Amino acid sequence: METVDLLLTNALVMTMDEQYNLYEPGAVAIQGDSIAGVGSEAEIRQRFNAPQVIDCGGKVLMPGLVNAHTHVPMTLLRGLADDLRLDVWLMGYMMPVEREFVSPDFVRLGTKLACAEMIRSGVTSFADMYYFEEDIAAATAEVGMRAVCSQSVMKFPTPDARFYEESLASTRDFIQRWKNHPLIVPSVAPHAAYTCTPEILRASAALAVEFDVPLHTHISETNLEVENMRAEQGMPVVPYMKKHGLFEAKVLSAHCVHIDEGEMRSLQHSGSGVAHCPSSNLKLASGIAGTKRMMELGLNVGIGTDGPASNNDLDMFEELRLTAFLAKGSTGDPTALPARTVLTMATRLGAKAMHIGHLTGSLEEGKRADLILIDLNPLHNSPRFRRDPHSAYAQVVYAAKATDVSDVMVNGQWLMRAHKLLTVDETDILRGAADYAHKIDIFLLRRETSIVSKLVAIGGAMQAESFEIQAKIRIQCSDPVMDGLKQPGIEILRFRHYRQFDTYFTFEEPGQGHLRYREDQFINEKGESTSVRSRLTLIGVVSEHRFPQRVLLSRSRYLAPATQSLRFYREYFKPASALEIEKDRLRYTIRYKDTEFYVNVDSVQKPALGCFLEIKSSTWSLKDAETKSALVGELITMLGADSSETITEDYFELARYA
Ligand SMILES: [Zn+2]
Repeated sequence: METVDLLLTNALVMTMDEQYNLYEPGAVAIQGDSIAGVGSEAEIRQRFNAPQVIDCGGKVLMPGLVNAHTHVPMTLLRGLADDLRLDVWLMGYMMPVEREFVSPDFVRLGTKLACAEMIRSGVTSFADMYYFEEDIAAATAEVGMRAVCSQSVMKFPTPDARFYEESLASTRDFIQRWKNHPLIVPSVAPHAAYTCTPEILRASAALAVEFDVPLHTHISETNLEVENMRAEQGMPVVPYMKKHGLFEAKVLSAHCVHIDEGEMRSLQHSGSGVAHCPSSNLKLASGIAGTKRMMELGLNVGIGTDGPASNNDLDMFEELRLTAFLAKGSTGDPTALPARTVLTMATRLGAKAMHIGHLTGSLEEGKRADLILIDLNPLHNSPRFRRDPHSAYAQVVYAAKATDVSDVMVNGQWLMRAHKLLTVDETDILRGAADYAHKIDIFLLRRETSIVSKLVAIGGAMQAESFEIQAKIRIQCSDPVMDGLKQPGIEILRFRHYRQFDTYFTFEEPGQGHLRYREDQFINEKGESTSVRSRLTLIGVVSEHRFPQRVLLSRSRYLAPATQSLRFYREYFKPASALEIEKDRLRYTIRYKDTEFYVNVDSVQKPALGCFLEIKSSTWSLKDAETKSALVGELITMLGADSSETITEDYFELARYA
């Protein structure tokens, strides 16, 4: 007779091992952090005795659920912005807020909130990917959960690194410090093919191989990602990652929504695990992953919640059900992914996908004691049929709820007993989270009231406060302005011809000015359009000063290259109205009396406003503006325009009252 620390008896023991052994009544013997024996109660009582024996009252005793992909600190951003397109959500909200708020303190609090939530829903292990991952590891270990903690690396500046070299260096330190921790497996996470350079992919793989730790990444989450990859590299994402050495490492690939059969085989051959994230893929309308085929090919497919900002919870019971239903609904085959298979994905296979299958994922002698108790007798799960013992799998997957989990143990330590959390103080966490939500609300409210700060928030190179001296004169389209430009004293430095498509956004509050999205299409001598450039300009409402001959000093407050689509800006800025103006522009850059001017001859076609001569020069002081305005007056005369036809409105204003 062997003496162990603890016996759990009188349970329906669902081992989730390779043979799918079920024992009822079954028992589990626990010694230290590990499982010493699993079997029928009679057998276990014969082999072991223990100072402590717990009667499980007929509940299901099974391995804890494995959340194979998440970003735990994002619990603090849950519900911040929803029902948006991925780019608006990510670039307009998540990234600006992350840049402002994500810190070691933020990630520790968010991690604790996530751990408390996950323990309550029966999760014992998870695979994370975020910034300040060492703080996430520390908070997770403090709570007592098991995790693969992957430090993000990407080509952009992040809250914890200005350059990717810094991320890689800190990841190396993190791995060295945590390599042999009993709960934490440190790991490196090149974020995705489209957010990393080939050098980042290679360096990350080399680091993972050097320390024999997993590598965690996102693969083919959206169709757009795959289309772009095919267009730029002539291949889909998996071969591209392979070309850059990624699969030399033990990889955990999140999403894999848009991969073909060849890519599935390639992942299988390389021993890469997949994290299927059904809620996130549905909420962000990314698509439905081919999990049925992946399972047929023998891939280790786990299930993940993804970050709580795109889900919005960490409830694995919901993911279990969605995994089964999506596979059935999308293949038209109700026998696809039966309950037992789905539960295997959320336990043993998930652990294998995370490359910690030797430690956890099933109740087997020698594995760590990571287990949960589930009550299968509440109203929503009654009655119970005993004819086929396997019907218990369907009860867990199709009817059980996260709140039916009563007890959770990780590494031999209880984290929850009879629904009471033992290692986290929920009150403290809730207070801390509410504090952050309040601060983030204020940050976003301030931003929402000012178009300028909304512009700044989405980043890129912003050039502030450019002043311009300008005159605009209505002319006949047949006026010989071009002949005027040939006069002595005027030197033409450059000439360009283009079509301009302007969209002016106006806002409820007139003081905001208007925002112009401009697309320039350059036209060559043959009349062909050669290249396109897009810019954003925030234009102030009033002219700053008027000079004789109605020459204006006006300012544009911000200029930026428009890196996103017009559709993005429309959804992000939510203007009260939008107006489109199209014109053909001949732009001459000239020198007159040692001063550079732009001379534009515009033909405004939509709406049909006719032709205009515009003379402009940028300026930085009122004195300089005075000198230039006199020169503009001279040029108006030299170019044969009638200065009494000078107008003081922009095309935008003209079009509004046309
Ligand atoms: Zn993710």
